[in-house]
Amino acid sequence: MADVGVFGGTFNPIHNGHLHLCQTLMQKAGLKKVLLMPVNTPPHKIAHGLLDNDTRLQMCRLAVHDQALIQVSDLECRRQGKSYTVDTIDALQALYPNDRLVLIMGSDMYLTLPEWKDYQRLVKSCKIIAAAREEHLGQSLQKMQAHILSIGGDTQVYPMDVLPISSTQIRRMLEEKDPSAANYLPKAVYAYILQHKLYQKGE
Ligand code: ATP
Repeated sequence: MADVGVFGGTFNPIHNGHLHLCQTLMQKAGLKKVLLMPVNTPPHKIAHGLLDNDTRLQMCRLAVHDQALIQVSDLECRRQGKSYTVDTIDALQALYPNDRLVLIMGSDMYLTLPEWKDYQRLVKSCKIIAAAREEHLGQSLQKMQAHILSIGGDTQVYPMDVLPISSTQIRRMLEEKDPSAANYLPKAVYAYILQHKLYQKGE
């Protein structure tokens, strides 16, 4: 039995902070591989700047084209509608019957876990790991870790140097044609965004 990571997000667009989290946790937690899982875009969200599935999937593929241990999964995008993580884990467990699934996330998502659908079942059907900056390994994260353990889950919070960047900040830079966006994006993703004129004002 090996551990397979699952890293979900909107990835609108995927950036170096996501990759850094993924690579660091993969190494710290000894994962065999990681599945990058972009969420499905409901049609009404496209109007609000969330790019369509194919575009976000393509950027994810470009971001990891040179990383053998990180694969892009279109499972949630293909399923359409809203995907709940607990259902995604069920579906993946059928695909990886001999492996343990390990959900990867940032500390902001970790703290929202009790709001997730069937979270008590979710924490028992996979391991959950999160990354937090050392100075943020505060009471709230420790409390959440203790809570998950108390209801029978397996979890771990790892200290790491999280890159202070978000997709929202990058979209803003791209809208303003600020070339420093390139500092936070994998090269091929930045080139793709420029080529297809993504995240421009009024689009
Ligand atoms: P947005 O700004 O559009 O909300 P985001 O940059 O926060 O996007 P998401 O796709 O929403 O990215 O996040 C997916 C996952 O990546 C979440 O678990 C989140 O905690 C984590 N994450 C986001 N940014 C970083 C970062 N800079 N370093 C480490 N983890 C991150």
